[in-house]
Amino acid sequence: MTDVVTRFAPSPTGHLHLGHAHSALFGWTTARKAGGRFLLRIEDIDPQRCRSEFDRDLREDLAWLGLTWEEPVRRQSEHLDDYRAALARLGGLGAVYPCFCTRKDIAAEIARAGHAPHGPDGPLYPGTCRGLSELEREDRVAAGQAYALRLDVEKAMAMTGPLRWHDRRRGWQDATPGILGDVVLARKDAPTSYHLAVTVDDHLQGVTLVTRGEDLFFATHVHRLLQELLRVVPPDYEHHSLLVNERGERLAKRDNAKTLRSLRESGLTAAEVRASAGFPEEL
Ligand code: GLU
Repeated sequence: MTDVVTRFAPSPTGHLHLGHAHSALFGWTTARKAGGRFLLRIEDIDPQRCRSEFDRDLREDLAWLGLTWEEPVRRQSEHLDDYRAALARLGGLGAVYPCFCTRKDIAAEIARAGHAPHGPDGPLYPGTCRGLSELEREDRVAAGQAYALRLDVEKAMAMTGPLRWHDRRRGWQDATPGILGDVVLARKDAPTSYHLAVTVDDHLQGVTLVTRGEDLFFATHVHRLLQELLRVVPPDYEHHSLLVNERGERLAKRDNAKTLRSLRESGLTAAEVRASAGFPEEL
């Protein structure tokens, strides 16, 4: 039997709140119960939003909560070459295309089309740049236009054929990555995106069980497709439900009152905070 390896992968864009504590404790206790390993990964590929102080503070918060993890911690910003290599591989398959659209272009195209296909997170990319000719792409690149790289989902699915992935709660799922449209794999300002970095890292770190919030359930369809294109073994998944506030809304970083720091400063003990995050048992 393979060892269970789980991870918690926060983005250092703010202070951790109870929802993060729930997710971290979920991964940590799952590994603990299985006699496995728990990893921490810092998802800091977004240069505009990530700050090293938040990285430092989140480690302090997690340690205060009583969690332990293996060193060294992987920081995505230190591994951009790994993502570049994966991108080159996907490019070699012909599964990606450059997209020159700005957010404004995309919104205008969606408005113009009248009805845009919607995914769980809103309207999908309308595919404007998918059909550009090779010549036009070269011209625009040569003219210095910034571009992102997108996954051509339909083409990629035609290469792999039908795929499935397994969720411990919901069972086997047929992969339907088209639900998020042609997602971005490399941003204009970074040689990767969340989807690509997560797929590469879970593989390189030997993660066998991805535990994360159910808000990322649909992203797993895309990750499964990327795993197949990159020829890596898919991990098992368990998407947990999200903590909500008194109004039934999902906890978000803007709920300042609920940061782990503010709870600690208000005098709560780590055990009390763990209990509020849904883990009342002793560690
Ligand atoms: N970095 C992501 C987040 O903070 C989580 C990634 C994952 O668990 O796959 O939402």
